[in-house]
Amino acid sequence: MKYDAVVIGAGPAGSSCAAELANRGMRVLLLDKKRFPRQKLCGGCVSSRINPYLPKGWQVSILNPVKGAILGFKDIYEKRKVDIPVAWTVDRSLFDTFLLREAERKGADVLESAEFFFFEDNESFFKVITSAGVFKTDFLIGADGFYTKVGRQLGYRRRQYFRSVEVEGEGNLKEEVFIKIGVVSRGYFWIFPKRDKVNIGIATTGKEQLPEVLKECVTNGSPFNLRRTGKPKSWPIPFSTKREDIHLGKGKVVLVGDAAGLVDPLLGEGIYYAVRSGILAGKFIADGKPEEYRKAVLKEIAPELIYAAKIANLAYRFQEIAFRMGKSYAIEQFFHLLSGRENFKSIYMKGLPLFFLYMLESFAKKTARSIFKQGRL
Ligand SMILES: Cc1cc2nc3c(=O)[nH]c(=O)nc-3n(C[C@H](O)[C@H](O)[C@H](O)COP(=O)(O)OP(=O)(O)OC[C@H]3O[C@@H](n4cnc5c(N)ncnc54)[C@H](O)[C@@H]3O)c2cc1C
Repeated sequence: MKYDAVVIGAGPAGSSCAAELANRGMRVLLLDKKRFPRQKLCGGCVSSRINPYLPKGWQVSILNPVKGAILGFKDIYEKRKVDIPVAWTVDRSLFDTFLLREAERKGADVLESAEFFFFEDNESFFKVITSAGVFKTDFLIGADGFYTKVGRQLGYRRRQYFRSVEVEGEGNLKEEVFIKIGVVSRGYFWIFPKRDKVNIGIATTGKEQLPEVLKECVTNGSPFNLRRTGKPKSWPIPFSTKREDIHLGKGKVVLVGDAAGLVDPLLGEGIYYAVRSGILAGKFIADGKPEEYRKAVLKEIAPELIYAAKIANLAYRFQEIAFRMGKSYAIEQFFHLLSGRENFKSIYMKGLPLFFLYMLESFAKKTARSIFKQGRL
């Protein structure tokens, strides 16, 4: 049988895309090399702005509501709370399986333990070569994550990414996320609540030895009594800082989610953009207009990633100032961002004058200190 669309990879991007396509009457095949439920290395923190884009019932995968944040720098900690959850932590295995079954329920054919190898362009259709056989299709969607084979066959190479390490542990954190800066040169240390467990991780674009930094952070890096219970694991997180980093595919071959590089370079949030890009791709492919999908991503998602990159450039370069701004301004702004009331552009534009004030103040203090030291006053 020939399909209208074959989707490679059943993470949040692929399953959301397949569900949208099937819902719009397309004959869809969704395949993944893993058997579900499968593990996916991820902090599993989803912002509440994702809610309108997820199918009913997804809440079964929620582990904790996020109603606050603790921001750390050196040994100083700053806490903010809210009444309504701005995010949730989910069990990625349950979350992804739910979305996969939802795509199947909407009418997509699903093949698990089926690895995609390569595709051939036969001009009027594509031949998709997999470990489960050869399939014909009009459209091919690469939702196959960081190491995307679909993207590589199109000639894309990813140059920017966070290295990350993550481990399961125990610690007294229930409805807040813990984020600490100043630990690595460009990135952060996090602890996310996971019911009776916690997810502990570090992401960086710097050259630090992550296992050692993680060990130190677990022992001395937080006000919580942390205990590691699992084995540390690593996986890269792609991100885009400019339009050219975003790889959206060519012609009738379309990329979504991590395969397209749709993760923000400040927080490393990718689940929201995976779901959103999957839905946009499904909508425009069903209309036979993949170019419109690319335009929509460049209009809606690209500015977010670009402004997140501008913030990351300042925040990771001047981490002490970022912490001080976090206390007075940024934590609350990020709550608004997670719940969809602000975006990275508005946070950047409003925060920039404040950032320069803090810079001036810090410069003035340093100059005064050095004048005192030299005994000139
Ligand atoms: C340590 C870590 C922590 C993170 N924490 C967060 C967080 O708290 N919040 C957040 O929003 N984001 C987080 N992210 C990012 C988030 O996990 C990703 O952005 C998100 O999973 C992207 O979804 P996706 O569907 O594009 O890709 P994936 O979820 O990676 O799914 C890709 C799928 O493709 C399949 N696949 C790959 N190759 C093939 C092949 N050749 N044939 C068939 N199938 C294939 C894989 O098995 C997989 O199921 C984190 C990432 C890491 C590494």
